[in-house]
Amino acid sequence: MSRCTWGKIGGKPSWLNPKVLPKSSDLLCSVCEKPMCFLMQVCANGGESDPPHAFHRTLFLFVCRNPGCSRPNDASNLKAFRCQLPRANDFYSFDGPMNPDFGDVPDPRALTDGPGLCKICGCAAAKKCAKCQVARYCSQAHQVIDWPQHKLECAEVAVNGSISEEPKNPRNAFVFKEFEVEIGQEYMPANLFDGISDDEEDDDNEEDGNDEDETEEEKKARIRDFEKFLKENKEKNADMTKEDLDAATAEQPKDIDFDKFNRLVNLNPDQIVRYKRYGLPLRATGRSELPEVVEPCDLCGSPRRFEMQLMPHLLSLIDVDAIGQSIDWASVYVFTCSASCEIADYGYAKELVVKQDFI
Ligand SMILES: [Zn+2]
Ligand SMILES: [Zn+2]
Ligand SMILES: [Zn+2]
Ligand SMILES: [Zn+2]
Repeated sequence: MSRCTWGKIGGKPSWLNPKVLPKSSDLLCSVCEKPMCFLMQVCANGGESDPPHAFHRTLFLFVCRNPGCSRPNDASNLKAFRCQLPRANDFYSFDGPMNPDFGDVPDPRALTDGPGLCKICGCAAAKKCAKCQVARYCSQAHQVIDWPQHKLECAEVAVNGSISEEPKNPRNAFVFKEFEVEIGQEYMPANLFDGISDDEEDDDNEEDGNDEDETEEEKKARIRDFEKFLKENKEKNADMTKEDLDAATAEQPKDIDFDKFNRLVNLNPDQIVRYKRYGLPLRATGRSELPEVVEPCDLCGSPRRFEMQLMPHLLSLIDVDAIGQSIDWASVYVFTCSASCEIADYGYAKELVVKQDFI
């Protein structure tokens, strides 16, 4: 269980380590190769096996703003990063709150030896405005976005030598609307999935014979139903063969995972994140793959395990649930290193994202 229950959506990232940021090249969309946009961060410390170097632990998610990069059952337009700090570190007090809250997050611009931050997206900025040498950007794309606003400031800098006070998180059209979220417990009564038969469990039980018994039961029920149906429709369907009737009454294979997912969503319609470290992902649909075993950690080789799942409701909160082409998902699943292994310079390690869609 996580010790901490908050997260933040939209705006600019509140970097846990404000000094060693992901490189701009790490934050490019794998589809269009343009800078991704900060989607959310979740305080994610306190796992059962977290070592002392991961006393503070935060996950960061990025998504490409381009709707065309959102492809069914493909997470190429999303990226997740894990960052950790020991209890004794350069940025947060040893005896301070267990989890640095947003108000406590040091502003990287205040660090004299810190990296510059892009005015648009809040990520590491290696580029400067050539004219004033003050405004910083991660990419030319973001300099272009800022130019209509910055050209006024740029002239001001020429006179005053600096940009006048700007709000800590100035809004711009690139970032998502910002708000904080409580990662609450989801409401899941023990009998929630009653009445939905689960193929997977049936498969698991194959050896001890339960599966055969159940199939036999189901078969009897089906034959009973069919005989009843035949009797009721005797006259109407007099010239239909048994095969015709079978074909006419055959059902589409059921999407049991979707039924379950739907029940949980109906019960928790405001849920935006299912946070279940070391838990099980809830498959949104059985019609596409959700691997049970994913690639191990790139850094240490430990198995990656499920940590969190973004629910469809998040799409409406960030205003991308438009009809037609838009960023979309049934669920986004984040799998992280089960060992919370040490990351060089306490920087940001890329973790694994999997996406399921209802297509
Ligand atoms: Zn893209
Ligand atoms: Zn940027
Ligand atoms: Zn300038
Ligand atoms: Zn690892």
